[in-house]
Amino acid sequence: MKRIRKITLFSFLLLPVLVLFVLSSLSGTMTAFASAESTTILSNAEKSSSLETVESVFSGKSVSSYEYFYNLDDSADYIYIEFENGGYAVYAKDTMEMMEYSLQGNLPYDTSVSKKYYAGPSNYLQKVDGRFYNVKSGEQLTVSKAEAYEFANTVRDAVIETKATKLGLEQSNVSDEVLAVLSSSNNAEEPDINTGKLIPASLNGTLIENVQFFLANPKRGDNYSGVTYGEGNSGTCGPVAAQLLLGYNNFYNDRRIIPNKYLNGYDHTTNTVSDREKNPNTCSDPMHLDEWTTGTSSENTKESFYYKIITSIMKPNTSGASNKEVKNGMDKYLSEVLSSSDYSLKYEEKGWFFGYKPINSSIIKAEIDAGRPLILSMDSNLGGSNHDVVGYGYEDYAYATGEGTYSGYVVNFGWQGTSRASVWINANWCDGYVSLKMNHTHSYNYVGAIPNSDRTEYKCSTCGQRTDAAIRMSASDRYVERMATITQSTGKTHQDYYVTFNTAGNKLFQTFGGYDAKLTLLDAEYNVLVENDDSGHGLNSLFNYTVEANKAYILRVATYRDQYSGKIKVGITPDSHAVSEFEDIWLLGSNIIGCSFTSELNATRAICYTPGASGTYKFTTKSADDIDTYLYFIDPTSADACLYNDDGAGNLQAKIEVDLVAGRKYLLIVSAYSITTKSGSMGLSIEKLS
Ligand SMILES: [Zn+2]
Repeated sequence: MKRIRKITLFSFLLLPVLVLFVLSSLSGTMTAFASAESTTILSNAEKSSSLETVESVFSGKSVSSYEYFYNLDDSADYIYIEFENGGYAVYAKDTMEMMEYSLQGNLPYDTSVSKKYYAGPSNYLQKVDGRFYNVKSGEQLTVSKAEAYEFANTVRDAVIETKATKLGLEQSNVSDEVLAVLSSSNNAEEPDINTGKLIPASLNGTLIENVQFFLANPKRGDNYSGVTYGEGNSGTCGPVAAQLLLGYNNFYNDRRIIPNKYLNGYDHTTNTVSDREKNPNTCSDPMHLDEWTTGTSSENTKESFYYKIITSIMKPNTSGASNKEVKNGMDKYLSEVLSSSDYSLKYEEKGWFFGYKPINSSIIKAEIDAGRPLILSMDSNLGGSNHDVVGYGYEDYAYATGEGTYSGYVVNFGWQGTSRASVWINANWCDGYVSLKMNHTHSYNYVGAIPNSDRTEYKCSTCGQRTDAAIRMSASDRYVERMATITQSTGKTHQDYYVTFNTAGNKLFQTFGGYDAKLTLLDAEYNVLVENDDSGHGLNSLFNYTVEANKAYILRVATYRDQYSGKIKVGITPDSHAVSEFEDIWLLGSNIIGCSFTSELNATRAICYTPGASGTYKFTTKSADDIDTYLYFIDPTSADACLYNDDGAGNLQAKIEVDLVAGRKYLLIVSAYSITTKSGSMGLSIEKLS
């Protein structure tokens, strides 16, 4: 739980208002921006005006002392009066509006500190070492100079405006008007979060692509018992959320963030990973998500990642951390393992002086839309609990009690227990966030088959991140293909490939197989760059796109309307001839026995052939320039692997023999063996063998 670091202004609302409207000759003058050394002693005129006001209300009470109370910008905006034999009253100096009073006791200011600040009932502030603290609660307050001025001006504007409109009326209600301004965005009518019975998320809204990471309920700490952080295990939610967010980014975006010694399965006596299946860098299936592979070490020792993070964010024997402290602590840790250009951290925390506005949900939703989970902080003044969580989705929720439908976020609540892995929180409870964006682009290499699966592992040569869905098209790649398995029943309605290209330029993307496929190219923040449904063969997809070199793209393979399960093949060629449909690819009819063309560097040539009769056919490449050529053969109705050949025809020429079905349009890709160094005259010969 995060300790409240804000002044509670809601108590303004509860103030029993005793409206007075004494327009003394002095009350119209605002002592704005008084210096810190200004006196606390009232002038005689102010005293006599105040006395008149007091005597009209508190008959029988006599005044023992007067002094100024200061607004947060050091302006003497209030008059504090103590009565003989106990009791007091606080007035807004400008209007003599009574802010609060009591017939017994007096306010708990430290009389050894001369200057007394007032921010409404229960908010009695003084300064130590230039920093505000609440003399009643003992809380330290984080208030910037700009925030103090903002608050002071808001209150004064409200007082002046209300006074002007109320002049001439018999009765006025200045306090209520002031309060209306201050609390214009409060959500007091909305249901409170019940932390004993959290609202489960439906997971039917918008979620980040890698939502399963958080549903695996990663191992995380809640307290380090060696030194007290927080109170018991409360007050540590900021570090817990930071641990989760860093763990996520390490798993997907940059494995340099968290070394093995802070991951699970590590043995600190031998300094090796001893339990390989608990560690994301050594487990046999790189996509395996459980509490261990997604988690980071959290035991109560100084070796754990949780200890590292909590000591980066908090000081011993303190409780709670502001978003700024969480952000700074994460920055401190990340700067030890990465360079500053590898990541960007941002934070925001709405101040109380704005009248408790929730953080703009469009900021949060944009991060989630970009695939980035982020730390969200809730505030009790907005109806939530004071708590930091990790948000990874957003969805609406209708309270059973019928209060209406509210927009909210899907979060891992941070507390232990799987039911806390997906909790709904009201967007209006959230007053801030800490976001983390990694700037690393993976460079994947082929590793090998993943045991007990039909998938292949790829690993980033820079950071060591592992995946089963990557395409790094090198400069020399003539064609690459992947088989995507779409299984609606497991909720995996599409397959995303992380794609990079070593060479910029036009690439031809298309799907193959018997399904109504849909293909989408997105940038790394999930913005759609190009998408297609039916421009490929049959109901397959096809598009061209001019890519940038060494930039991350996401290639999404899906079925139309996420309706089918099955295998869809996706292929990419660096074809120099952009076509808008499969039908536009250079077609050789049934009576054609070959073709010739001049190839270009860094490019291939797609050619279609439709046989007039079924039978066995032989395709051979040729080159008048004695170029070493290469050939791929693709049946666009099949999601099986393509056929390919380098030198089967002799003289560095390729040969493929294959059975064809009459009338079907087959795809061949002809190119130099080395498209980066060779170009010139080449072609294809077709012969029906039987
Ligand atoms: Zn990497």
